[in-house]
Order: sequence, then structure tokens, then C-alpha cells
Amino acid sequence: MAKIFCVANQKGGVGKTTTTVNLAAGLAKVGQRVLMVDLDPQGNATMGSGVDKRKLALSVYDVLLETASIVEARVQSSKLQDAGCGYDILGANRELAGAEVEMVELERREKRLKLALAVVEKDYDFILIDCPPSLSMLTLNGLCCAHGVIVPMQCEYFALEGLADLVNTIKQVHANLNKDLAIIGLLRVMFDPRITLQQQVSEQLKARFAEKVFNTVIPRNVRLAEAPSYGLPGVVFDPSSKGAQAFVAFAQEMVERLQKM
Ligand code: ATP
Ligand code: MG
Repeated sequence: MAKIFCVANQKGGVGKTTTTVNLAAGLAKVGQRVLMVDLDPQGNATMGSGVDKRKLALSVYDVLLETASIVEARVQSSKLQDAGCGYDILGANRELAGAEVEMVELERREKRLKLALAVVEKDYDFILIDCPPSLSMLTLNGLCCAHGVIVPMQCEYFALEGLADLVNTIKQVHANLNKDLAIIGLLRVMFDPRITLQQQVSEQLKARFAEKVFNTVIPRNVRLAEAPSYGLPGVVFDPSSKGAQAFVAFAQEMVERLQKM
């Protein structure tokens, strides 16, 4: 049975999508079977996995509205398959923005993704969900089906403040909707060790959250930022880059953590 993880942080541009696609590729590279779910109408994780969001016949939108199953809607990217880092993709595009409104009227609206994933869980070791930068109904659908949340964060002054809101939301979902949910870990991303403030915030994080802080640190690395414009995760685009190597190390750390869970 797959372990399901949400990559979430309501703050925009903190590296959620970069984390999702590179962790997916890194896990695939070390032999894990992975499904990546794009829950963001921006469709960045879809595009960044080599799938054109404008050409999706079916997407996560159809799955949430129960007009298609994941078996019908999931796709693959030949570029990723060829590189030996292939994973399945449940894509998203702008259509998904409408789901938020359309779902208001529906029953068990926060459980839609969970029910849909139940059918394919056996096909995978990992299911990774890229959440939008909000604590919306879409993110709630992700949190309702996950065993854990991976929180990418930049070691900046306001990072800890934003974290408090996310921790509260996760506590509420845990209490009311999903007893399995926990923060698996905080991932320090876009890290630049030359910046004293980043080192200080990193130390504060470790003091406050202890073993919840992943050992792996993702450096600021331009190759990771360039990769999406080629429709590839950095892990595939430039495997020898510091950023790619860090994400493969992070994939290994995730596999090890799971063995202890
Ligand atoms: P949103 O909230 O809009 O969904 P996000 O949290 O998914 O954003 P990303 O899209 O992953 O964030 O990253 C934001 C920007 O930072 C992108 O341009 C991405 O390429 C760049 N970026 C992410 N991680 C790194 C890194 N480690 N080094 C350099 N650039 C990075
Ligand atoms: Mg994103």
C-alpha cells in the first residue's frame, strides 16, 4: 500500500512544486513506484513533469468531480521514462480552479481525493500531492488523504510565523477529519549557508522541531530553477548538479524514514 504525502505550505513560491517533482523523480530513480498528484490549478507540477497541461484529456478536476477515475486520468511522461525516473502523473490545469466552487454543494467534498486514491493505492509505494499556496478545499482534500505532510521552507525571518498557521490547520484536520495525519518533516530549501540569517533560522527550526527537521538540506541551485522550462525535474535535467544530488539524498532519507514509521 502506498504512503501518501502532501507537500504543503500556504506561503507562495517556497519550493513546494520543486520539492514534489524532484522527490518524485528521486524516488523513481531509487526504484520506488510513484504517483504524483497536482492539486494546484497553476499546473506547474504537471508541466514540470513533462506533461502539457493544456492538452490533458482528463485531470484531477474530473477525478474530484467523479466524472473519471484515476486509472483513466493518470498519464506518464516519456522523457521521464527514458531517463529511468518515470512516475505516474495525475495532472491539473486552470479548470481545477472551478472545482473549488463546484464542490461547495457536493457531499463528502473534502474526501473526494481520498476515495479516488483508494482504488490505486496498491499500485504505488509513494503518492505525492503538490498543494496550492492556500489552505483551501483543494489543500484540505490533500490533507484528508495523506499520512503525512512535507513542509518545504526557506530559512527566512517570517518562515516560523507562517508555520504556526499550517501547524494549526494540520492539528484541526487531524482532530476532525484524518487521524493519520502528521507533519513528517520540515525541509529546508533554497538554502544558502553563506547567509547568517538562514543559518540562524535553521538552528531555530532544529531547536523547536528537533527530529521533524529533515537531515537533507536543499541548496539554492540555478539548475533546479532552469529545469521546469525544459519540462523536467532537476533530478533528470542535470543529475550531477548539487540540487539534483540533494533531492536524490532526500528521496533516500524518505525511504529510510518510512522503514521506521
Ligand atoms: P507556488 O506557491 O506558486 O505553488 P511553490 O511553493 O510551488 O510556488 P516553486 O514553484 O517550487 O514554489 O518554486 C518557486 C521558484 O523558486 C521557482 O521559480 C523555482 O524554480 C525556484 N526554486 C525552487 N527551489 C529552488 C532551489 N533550490 N534553488 C533555486 N531555485 C529554486
Ligand atoms: Mg507550486
